[in-house]
Order: sequence, then structure tokens, then C-alpha cells
Amino acid sequence: MHITQAHCQALDQQDTLAPLRDQFSLPEGVIYLDGNSLGAQPKAAPARAQQVITEEWGVGLIRSWNTAGWFDLPQRLGNKLAKLIGANDGEVVVTDTTSINLFKVLAAALRQQEAKAPTKRVIVSERRNFPTDLYIAQGLIEQLHAHGAPAYQLRLIDSPEELHGALGDDVAVVMLTHVNYQTGYMYNMADTTRAVHQHGALTVWDLAHSAGAVPVALNDANADYAVGCTYKYLNGGPGSPAFLWVNAKHQDAFWQPLSGWWGHARPFAMEPGYQPHQGISRYLCGTQPITSLAMVECGLDTFGQTSMTALREKSLGLTTLFMELVQQECSDHPLTLITPTDPAIRGSQVSYEHPQGFAVVQALIDRGVIPDYREPRIMRFGFTPLYTSFEDVWHAVAILKDILDSKSWDQPQFHRRGAVT
Ligand SMILES: *Cc1c(COP(=O)(O)O)cnc(C)c1O
Repeated sequence: MHITQAHCQALDQQDTLAPLRDQFSLPEGVIYLDGNSLGAQPKAAPARAQQVITEEWGVGLIRSWNTAGWFDLPQRLGNKLAKLIGANDGEVVVTDTTSINLFKVLAAALRQQEAKAPTKRVIVSERRNFPTDLYIAQGLIEQLHAHGAPAYQLRLIDSPEELHGALGDDVAVVMLTHVNYQTGYMYNMADTTRAVHQHGALTVWDLAHSAGAVPVALNDANADYAVGCTYKYLNGGPGSPAFLWVNAKHQDAFWQPLSGWWGHARPFAMEPGYQPHQGISRYLCGTQPITSLAMVECGLDTFGQTSMTALREKSLGLTTLFMELVQQECSDHPLTLITPTDPAIRGSQVSYEHPQGFAVVQALIDRGVIPDYREPRIMRFGFTPLYTSFEDVWHAVAILKDILDSKSWDQPQFHRRGAVT
């Protein structure tokens, strides 16, 4: 079937999620395909930020820790977020960054294993995992070894198919990103967790590209630990605090190592000795960035008006349409699709390699289509069903075709690199 603009318009007319776009502030003339890196701004966010600054801080002052609900915001937002990832109340906190949360849960998972099976000294992950995940594991391994523990080893697989071969009785923890940031490949969480458990290992899932993008069922999968971002598909704002989930059966097993006062059983008793809080609150460390944290709620509230099932259906519609249109319009250009075409194993992004990927992405941004670029040669297009339309996909591909056909990407300004790509 030849896909036309009218076909895309018809898809928009049938789309029951289309009205949700109006809840986001998107600049005129921009097709935003980078919600997987920084989500768009919910229209409710500026007013909420204003309220926190003017009323809660300006007038309420210190009283707002109690009267404006600042103190239990990590748990209250965690309960809202839990619904999107198949978790229950009391299992999630919104706090710190994904990198820091990963350090906390990885350390807790290793402690838990050390008590039971001290000969397990391997952490399995993927070479193509987001680098901070690997760096955090390396830093923790360094730290533990420096304090005299037998060394842990990071075992990296080169593709998801190698996972089963990497599992053995020496494996303590398998730390994977559910949806890969480069390729968009998505693991089957339940099957993978089952295989990991058969070897007596624990799972740490990074949901940075899953939360708000695909349905996640942490408890159904019997997963162990999870972390993720709120500034990507959850639209929490630049640098908004991340989240952390621990299976209820592990929550009280060990302390996490960043044993700050917010994780204490009685923070305001001001006792000299640390005693961990029961439950998920022990995963907090110190005082939270309240303005930024408060805005996470604006992003979460838009999800309250729909379901992950409906969002997933539209997301697959958008990514399938994009792949088909690129095939139809740009097949004589050197674009290599690196995202699985099988909907069961892909997230909400589509990635292509192109020898001049960086310059092509800059030329797209110049024309108002915003995807992003990741080394090496990867052009990444994120689709966010809350605010992306089918006609956006049509226009994005038409502009991509024009840039490739005309080679307009080959201008000096499109080869210049900034600090952030
Ligand atoms: C975006 C992303 C992060 C980011 O971590 P920060 O601590 O927020 O900088 C971590 N892991 C993965 C898999 C990501 O995609």
C-alpha cells in the first residue's frame, strides 16, 4: 500500500488520544521527536512551579514541609508512578538521579547476594547499555574491592541473544536496561527475570526508556530492583528527580549505602546512630529539590487520563508508520534500521544508522524536526503518543527525504558539534 498524507490525517481523526496533545506546550512549527531524551512541557508545569516558588516557599516558608506536603512528596509521587510500571503503593520513591539510584540498588542487591551466596562475584550487563549504568557498576566494584572484598567482575554481553550464555552460578546480579537507548530493543522482562532467577541471580532493571513509553509489569515479572528517569517519557522537566522501585520482599533486607537522614527511621529524632526506615523510604538519602520534584506531578497527571495499553497501541502505530514511510520515501539512501521490526521486542523509538548521521540530524533540527544523534552514526527518533500525531510522522519523513535528496546536510554549520549531542 502506498501511504499518503491523507491516510495519516485519517489516522489522526480516529485517534482517541489526540486531544491530550493540547495539554503540552509545543512551539509552533516544531515536530518534536526527542521526548525520549527530554519530554515536552506539560502546560500545567509553569503554574505549578510558580505556586511552589511564590506561595509555598515565598509565603509558607519552612512551614511548607508540613503544610504543602513537601516532606512526603517522594513517596506520594512514587505511588502515582507505581501505576505506570506495575508496582504497588509503598514500593516506589521519586528521588535523586537514575545514576545515584542505580548505585543504591546495585549495592543493596550485591549485599543481599553476599549474605546468601558469597561466591557469586559477577555482574552481567550489556556493552551497549547506557554508559552511566556501566560506569556506576565499575565505580561500585572499585569501591568494594578497595575495602578488601574479593573483586566483582563486570561481564558484558554484545547482544541480548548472548544473555543466556552469560548466566552461570557465579552471577550475582543481572543489570539490564529494559529498552535499549540506542537500538530501541526491548527485553521480555518476565522471561528474562525467570531465567536470571534460575541461576540464583537478582535483576536490576533500568526503565529510563520504558516508564511512560511501554507497559511495564514489575510485580507480575517478579523483578527485584528497578530505577528510571522522569524527565524522558514522563515529562517531569529538565533534570527532574528519578525513581527507584524495590520488590516489597527485598525492601528490608539491607541498607543501601547512602544512609542519609531522610532514610532514617526517625529523621527528626536527630539520633547519632543510623537506623533504616522500614520499607521503601530507606532508599531516600537527603533533602530533595522540591521545585523540580513538584513538577514531576504535572507530567504524571497527564498519564492519569489514559492507560498504558492505549498509549502502547498508538506508539506502535506511530513507529510502524515511521518505518514504513522511511522505507517508501528514502529507500535509495544509506539508512540502516537498527530497531527491531517485531513490535514485541521494541520500545517507542526508531533508530537508523547513516554514515553522516550527525549532520543529517543537525539539518533536520534546522528545519524544525527534532530527533537526536547518538554515537556511532545513530539517528534516534522518539515517539511520544501523548503529543505526537500521525501527520507529524508524515511531515518528518517528507523533510528527511528532502534533506537526503538535496544533500543539504553537507553544509559546514551542520558538521559543528556542541557540548551536548
Ligand atoms: C537517560 C538514561 C540515564 C540517565 O541517568 P542520569 O543519572 O539521569 O543522568 C541512565 N540510564 C539510562 C539507561 C538512560 O537512558
